Amino acid sequence: MGVSKMSDCIFCKIINKEIPSKVVYEDEKILAFHDLNPTAPKHVLVIPKVHFESLNEMTSEHAEVMAYLTLKLKEIAGLIGIAESGYRVVCNCGADGGQEVKHLHYHVIGGRKLQWPPG
Ligand code: 5GP
Ligand code: ZN
Repeated sequence: MGVSKMSDCIFCKIINKEIPSKVVYEDEKILAFHDLNPTAPKHVLVIPKVHFESLNEMTSEHAEVMAYLTLKLKEIAGLIGIAESGYRVVCNCGADGGQEVKHLHYHVIGGRKLQWPPG
């Protein structure tokens, strides 16, 4: 489905298969794929196929897909084998949040005991 519009967005290009990725899960609404530079033994990114930059740009129009995406996280964690051992879901927002890619994404990270608090 051509729900992504941003031609200069790398995650939209991943959705549109213009950039290859190792897909963990895909359906018409969301995509989960392995992070190129994993910070833990298991690290996937989960994105809505609709483009918006961050939590700051999320509107009620995105509520349905984000509820759907959130409900899918446990299944995606299961697909990479960390549902039982546990995992962390991170959404970086803006400069101080450390957001580099301006297409909203959840990091799902696990496969080792993670430290807290983050730096
Ligand atoms: P952010 O810092 O924006 O929260 O996270 C962006 C994430 O996207 C980083 O963890 C980075 O490794 C990952 N990333 C950036 N470019 C690509 C890419 O082309 N392919 C994949 N699979 N991951 C990417
Ligand atoms: Zn995008």
